[in-house]
Amino acid sequence: MFKVDQDKCLRCGMCTGICPDVFSFDDEGNIKVNNENINNLEEVMEAVNSCPVTAISKEEENKA
Ligand code: SF4
Repeated sequence: MFKVDQDKCLRCGMCTGICPDVFSFDDEGNIKVNNENINNLEEVMEAVNSCPVTAISKEEENKA
């Protein structure tokens, strides 16, 4: 499970460009993470590593 720190996020569109299945803009212009759509972890990691402000992090499964 990945999540985006909305306070850090610049809405630059880098992650949505690299991995649009998982990262998309919601109606408010925030990044929405579609964790259920992860089928290419390499692509997700590329998006994570390309974020200029490291706003995307991996969340432990057992965390609420
Ligand atoms: S790459 Fe990072 S800063 Fe850019 S939109 Fe995605 S989460 Fe936000």
